[in-house]
Amino acid sequence: MSGSNLSIPAARPVIGEAEIEAVVRVLRSGHVIQGPEVAAFEEEFSELVAGRSCVAVNSGTSALQLTLMALGIGPGDEVVVPSFSFAATANAVRLVGAEPVFADITPGTYCLDPLATAAVIGPRTAALMPVHLYGHPAAMDRLMPLADRHGLAVIEDACQAHDAALHGQPVGTFGQAGCFSFYPTKNMHTLEGGMISTADPQLARTLRLLRNQGMEQRYENEIVGANMRMTDVAAAVGREQLKQLPAWTERRRANAKVLDSRIEGLPVPQVADGARHVYHQYTVRVPDGRRDDVQQELARQSIGSAVYYPTPIHRLKPYQDPGRPPLPETDRAAAEVLSLPVHPTLGPGELERIAQAVNLAGGAR
Ligand SMILES: *Cc1c(COP(=O)(O)O)cnc(C)c1O
Repeated sequence: MSGSNLSIPAARPVIGEAEIEAVVRVLRSGHVIQGPEVAAFEEEFSELVAGRSCVAVNSGTSALQLTLMALGIGPGDEVVVPSFSFAATANAVRLVGAEPVFADITPGTYCLDPLATAAVIGPRTAALMPVHLYGHPAAMDRLMPLADRHGLAVIEDACQAHDAALHGQPVGTFGQAGCFSFYPTKNMHTLEGGMISTADPQLARTLRLLRNQGMEQRYENEIVGANMRMTDVAAAVGREQLKQLPAWTERRRANAKVLDSRIEGLPVPQVADGARHVYHQYTVRVPDGRRDDVQQELARQSIGSAVYYPTPIHRLKPYQDPGRPPLPETDRAAAEVLSLPVHPTLGPGELERIAQAVNLAGGAR
């Protein structure tokens, strides 16, 4: 991420006085590595995931990778993932030596399509890794029974979906584990950081060992592990952010409602039945090759926008495979999506400006 001269940036991470004071307090305490702040942050975050155990790590990617390791997924295994996601989703699978198998998305929600997922499950499939993209929950009500039928683990990539839910059940509580990111542009941050939620105490213990060289007692290494610890400095920032998350989420949802009502002539985000969308992104579709025009008009008016993701993962260099079946909905979405500012610091005037600029450039014609 970088600073922005746009008057309405696409994202506006908050680093407030409370965060700064928390960092200074931790630095002055002298205890800066994984310690009491991390433990408190894990405890407090567990309220977002129905009291599940939480294990803090140094990034969302580490959360995914560590979970795959803890579940024993590795060489010879396949993990079904959407191609329409950030590369970290597939990278985590490759980093443990397993192979990501891409399934297409449902066009309205941009999340893993249950029928497409069922079609790619094979003898090597070990897990499903649905992504709650843009803050919209994936179709867990259909993916969980599918996974159960085939005896597959489910790892939720909830990196964009803190406090999203489906039929009242929070994301991160459906599968064996849920993985969250605290990168600055996410709905809450710790500068860099991640969290894993799980209801399985054995899995939680393995995750704690794996993030710290396989040690519970110092120098009594039980297994081979990594160093993926969160610092107490990061956790202190996260604790301050967590206090503000409910209000921020309501602002994102309210902002989305305003944009929904004001944008004309372009498909606005769909919300599946029973879904609580937390609008990490507010993503419209701009068909017929008009996306560049809309983005240029927004830029001319000093309004940020972004395309997540212009190149689906299966078309990125490390993942290209000419023999792979096509992913038409993924390709179509990549060509048409445009994310508009929806962050909680936007005011009513700014929302109005965004909607007017979009309508001017890309709306009904
Ligand atoms: C941000 C993100 C990640 C990775 O999180 P980091 O904290 O940046 O490592 C993984 N998956 C998705 C869908 C993300 O948006």
